[in-house]
Amino acid sequence: MKKNSIGLTTKIFIGMAAGIVIGLLLYGNSPDSFIGKYIVGGLFNITGEIFKNCISLLVIPLVFVSLVNGSAKMGDIARLGRIGIKTLGFYLITTAIAISLALILAIAISPGKGLNKEHLKKSKHIVKKKIPLSQVVINMIPKNPIAAMADGNMLQIIIFAILTGISLASLGSSVKLVLEFFAQLDLVTMKLVELIMLCAPYGVFALIAKTFATTGFNAMMPLIKYVITVIIALIIHGIFTYGGLLKFVGKLSPIRFIKKFAPAMTVAFSTSSSNATIPATMEMVEDRLGVKEKIASFTIPLGATINMDGTAIMQGVAVVFISQIYGIPLTLGAYLTVIMTATLASIGTAGVPGVGLITLSMVLSSVGLPVEGVALIMGIDRILDMCRTAINICGDAVCTLIVAKSENEFDREIFDA
Ligand code: ASP
Repeated sequence: MKKNSIGLTTKIFIGMAAGIVIGLLLYGNSPDSFIGKYIVGGLFNITGEIFKNCISLLVIPLVFVSLVNGSAKMGDIARLGRIGIKTLGFYLITTAIAISLALILAIAISPGKGLNKEHLKKSKHIVKKKIPLSQVVINMIPKNPIAAMADGNMLQIIIFAILTGISLASLGSSVKLVLEFFAQLDLVTMKLVELIMLCAPYGVFALIAKTFATTGFNAMMPLIKYVITVIIALIIHGIFTYGGLLKFVGKLSPIRFIKKFAPAMTVAFSTSSSNATIPATMEMVEDRLGVKEKIASFTIPLGATINMDGTAIMQGVAVVFISQIYGIPLTLGAYLTVIMTATLASIGTAGVPGVGLITLSMVLSSVGLPVEGVALIMGIDRILDMCRTAINICGDAVCTLIVAKSENEFDREIFDA
């Protein structure tokens, strides 16, 4: 990977750009036409889905194995606890900043003014599922770790892996064989990631081409202001919050960071899933940005599960947008409630496509806005999901770098290389 890493990054970007161009050129063909059936619904769909499956298959083994290794190496519980608190604090604060920024920007731009409820597409499929916070906490502890793995329940897997790692560490040399086994399993999973990343340019191309061929740009026209507000907020958060944190807290170059981390962001962009991107994020953070596995194996899967700044931004803008369309003004107290509930919603949002829209209903109902408002933005959410997922994982990587640096688990030479 390291040897031809520049080649791979460029290839992924070419794949993405070509996907956008070809997708837009093919937009408008009916699903029954030759192009719709065999190219978009056939070739692009099959290639894209195979790529998605390939990266998804890595997630559970990679998270489990590297987290067992990471926490076994970390040794003492106090250290793991300190890193845990730092990481959690960082994740929560950046999410609160993200949502506040989104609210301010949305109030300034007022994306919902001038649009009325007639544009509302009635949808009966809005999920009104609300998960109480107490249940979120209870659900973190797996009753059955095998079931947790089969269901892909990331928080439960994280907890089980940490407990296993800590047990291995406290047993020390009496479980030398098991420790070695996990260390070697780690090599195998990292090799798998490397192999699958070689297919990324083609997978990314197919996924993007299919999305643009089916959605096009026209679909976004009535909601363009909403989309633009979300995108501006994502960019500002990326440049100022993350850039500022890297530069002033981490004393690291944001430009270098983005150059090295970009391939993972393109994978997030094309899959719309922080979870599916975990292998790519881990590889970039460890091999290109110089974070030791001990830290990355803990912070990256945790971040992909609970840290969703991009999602919080979408929810902030959506709240203002929907309140303006329905003509329901929000008080200062309501905005504070939104900051709180959207931060919690970000923890409850799974790192898979489209879930941010479901947890948005929790934020809307917390301030008395109609949950049906979700229907209005549903049609264009896929493209925003792509953008916000890229920011979601960017936040995980920035936090990881800063925590790693503060713990002296960071290799400057790799970062500067
Ligand atoms: N797709 C997002 C992610 O995986 C979650 C969401 O906002 O829907 O990070």
